[in-house]
Amino acid sequence: MSMFADLDFTQLEGTGEQLMIINGERLAAMSGEMTSVIDPSTGRWIGSSPAADKADVDLAVAAARRSFDSGIWRNKSAADKQNILWRASDIMERHAAELAKLEALNSGMLLSMAQGTIAGSVQAIRYYAGMATKIYGQTTEVSGEHGQFLAYTLREPLGVAALIIPWNVPVLLTVIKVAAALAAGCSCIIKPSEETPLTALRLADFFAEAGVPKGVINVVTGYGHTAGAALSEHDGVDKVAFTGSGHVGKLIVRAASGNLKKVTLELGGKSPVIMFDDCDIDRAIQGTADGIFTHCGQICVSGSRLYVQRTLFDRAAEGLAAIAGNLKVGHCFAEGTQIGPLISQKQRTRVMGLIASGIEQGGELITGGKAFDGPGFYVSPTIIANPHLDSRVLKEEIFGPVLTMMAFDDIDDVVFHANNTTYGLASSVWTDDVNKAHLLAKRIQAGFVWINCHAMADISLPGGGYKQSGWGREQGLEGLDGYLQTKTVYAALRQ
Ligand code: NAD
Repeated sequence: MSMFADLDFTQLEGTGEQLMIINGERLAAMSGEMTSVIDPSTGRWIGSSPAADKADVDLAVAAARRSFDSGIWRNKSAADKQNILWRASDIMERHAAELAKLEALNSGMLLSMAQGTIAGSVQAIRYYAGMATKIYGQTTEVSGEHGQFLAYTLREPLGVAALIIPWNVPVLLTVIKVAAALAAGCSCIIKPSEETPLTALRLADFFAEAGVPKGVINVVTGYGHTAGAALSEHDGVDKVAFTGSGHVGKLIVRAASGNLKKVTLELGGKSPVIMFDDCDIDRAIQGTADGIFTHCGQICVSGSRLYVQRTLFDRAAEGLAAIAGNLKVGHCFAEGTQIGPLISQKQRTRVMGLIASGIEQGGELITGGKAFDGPGFYVSPTIIANPHLDSRVLKEEIFGPVLTMMAFDDIDDVVFHANNTTYGLASSVWTDDVNKAHLLAKRIQAGFVWINCHAMADISLPGGGYKQSGWGREQGLEGLDGYLQTKTVYAALRQ
């Protein structure tokens, strides 16, 4: 493992002691409690943020509610909303280098990946800036005497949206929600993960500088079971947009039932990768390795279950083991690092436990399976072949650099196994047979099917889960729909 790079993080804006943002003001939690923010690449302290609780959430919801009810944002012209959002994207672009460093420092993602996700976030804001001027209702010819009635629909903002974010890709996952919510005219409260609150606070600064009025974007930091739970059950919140684990997703659905607020859920996955013996084998092996080891496997769409046609199995195992064994594990800023740390010691303990259980339950360790001593939360890229069908390593989302691989003989067999999961987020198929690829794309139960690639995304394309991987869609036009509601207006005209 490479030594960590000695970045002087104190020079980086957004580190150190931070305050939340409520109604445009920087505030501590009423209790005075703070949470520590850790650099997962070194395990060292890089900042603190307020541990908000119910009383702080009440304040933030009241601010968002006031801003929404006053119309200060939602009644702005569509062109003004568009221009302000676009300005925010320009400001973010100007700060891209600094923001990428902060994102990498706090989440442990490689600096190159952070730079890519910040560029993607700038694009996402611009996409939804344009959408602000493209919100259309409909008119229809209703029955009755011609001209007697006029009927049309209006698309209106849902109201106050609570945006609850995980730690793995904080800026992009926040921006996708905030930009769509603002384009629709909603006011919002962002609740970043307690592990990665720093970049959300910087983002809110950029939107404020661009001209988003105070109270329209509030940021409440703190733990999920306190701040997150208070938001989810709050009667002043009209919608929760959540990205995170299925377990918490279910808690949110229960909490939301009090006022039947709308809920969208982007949850986890256990995504299958299907490799046929007629594929471009070198490309498929590299694509599969990238699909699981990027960001140390901490991506919701990571391809964690590989099904390889039996004739290709040994070659695929050898190729993947060679790549995994040679990946340079290290600090996200260090020269040449190819795979960074997991987010926390807790997550590393969990991942190591799952690897051990996979081997105990009959899986063959092909490579990896080690946790490194010393600072930072590193685990070596790991491949387990032929785990038992009921083993946890095959059924549970690991969210770590762990690939399981199994052989298959025919297409019905592999479709059955690919779909034999409670998840349904993503999948990929590797074959040069176009016909087979598209037939399979129809049979796989997942929100994404990639053909000869993995984890490709574009802000114009909707993303979300089948089965227990989620409710609703984000990104694209459907992402905007999640923050709008439809009103039908039916008027009798005097003749
Ligand atoms: P998590 O569910 O533990 O936490 C996500 C957020 O929910 C955090 O902000 C947390 O503080 C908050 N939270 C926790 N308990 C809460 C409660 N009781 N009420 C309200 N909020 C609460 O998830 P995580 O560990 O931060 O992230 C990893 C998970 O996120 C993985 O399962 C991953 O697959 C999923 N994820 C999904 C997508 C997607 O688009 N489908 C994208 C990224 C991550």
